[in-house]
Amino acid sequence: MIDKETIEKFRDLPTPFYYYNLGTLNETLETLKKESLGRGYKVHYAVKANPNPRILKIISSFGFGADCVSWNEIDAAIKAGFKPDEIVFAGVGKSDYEILNAIEAGIFCFNCESIPEIEVINKIAADQKKIAVISLRINPLIDAHTHKYITTGIEESKFGIHTWELEEVLKRVSEMKNIRLTGMHFHVGSQITRMSVFQSLCAHINELQEWFASHNVNLEVVNVGGGLGIDYETPEKAPAFAEYFSLIDEFIELRPGQVLHLEPGRSVVGQCGSLISKVLYVKNGSNTIFAIIDAGMTDLIRPALYQAHHKIENLTSQGSIHKYDVVGPICESSDTFAKFYELPDTKRGDIIAIRSAGAYGEAMASRYNLRDLPRVVFSDEI
Ligand SMILES: *Cc1c(COP(=O)(O)O)cnc(C)c1O
Repeated sequence: MIDKETIEKFRDLPTPFYYYNLGTLNETLETLKKESLGRGYKVHYAVKANPNPRILKIISSFGFGADCVSWNEIDAAIKAGFKPDEIVFAGVGKSDYEILNAIEAGIFCFNCESIPEIEVINKIAADQKKIAVISLRINPLIDAHTHKYITTGIEESKFGIHTWELEEVLKRVSEMKNIRLTGMHFHVGSQITRMSVFQSLCAHINELQEWFASHNVNLEVVNVGGGLGIDYETPEKAPAFAEYFSLIDEFIELRPGQVLHLEPGRSVVGQCGSLISKVLYVKNGSNTIFAIIDAGMTDLIRPALYQAHHKIENLTSQGSIHKYDVVGPICESSDTFAKFYELPDTKRGDIIAIRSAGAYGEAMASRYNLRDLPRVVFSDEI
């Protein structure tokens, strides 16, 4: 719930803006710290979910590491206080420049996705007279027991190294003088709400552990990636960290000296953010009513990009309920936040909150239509 006092303060602020509730963020981080530290797990926050400098600073102050997918993210993470040796660098397309900078910055590990990539890292590390530490991102081909996955599971994915390539990878890596293989890395997908998916991942990892052991390869790091989902219907609901961590604890079989690493993104920041907007116009369509708001897909692209559903609240009306198509001002039909959505009687000037927008919201904002980027307001600033 966004309280009455806060709503009153919203009235005077120019919209649209992202509102970050620091209370929610801090509570989430406390829980994450408790659940991970107690088990000896190492958390790397996935910076791409929300790289807002202040949010990064708060997350780094809890002692977590960072999972980055570009040099600019690594740079932002270091500037926000993350220690370079607690930063991992993922992504299928790391450029030479990014690899060089990451080696010079002294990051912990490259999560590698192909032999050609490892070769380039080896070459650049050799030029720098350094040893680059790598983990292999292995494509787990997890049967996620959803129809969606059954159809996409057979598709070629650009991510990760296939298990049938591992033999070759080990052979090649053993010939590279400036590479040290430290771990295996996985990332099954995002917004996963079925815990059984993570159980399947653990089972798969346990099998691979056998395989690596049989090849006399000792790995110190087992990185299960991110993906824990949040409840978009219930923005007040905290992510299921306890359930997720105890499931992993129960099913994963770590070898002596191994440390489990995780890369949560969405679950860390999703529920602390709301996109706050004002209603510009209410317009009758032939069989719907449009509530045209001043936030659009340039501010929050998830509904347009993934048909994602966010809870929408009219913070300033208690009127009778009607159904609205909540749309933005951008010149694209996909600029729609919800269709036939029940809201109290809505009029020009009402304040609309699009909830659970802390992850992949501000981070994905664009200037399409030459719009201004959304403003940001933290709960302790008003
Ligand atoms: C995006 C990403 C994450 C974070 O995923 P969430 O679903 O936000 O938790 C973690 N690891 C890798 C490699 C990623 O690409």
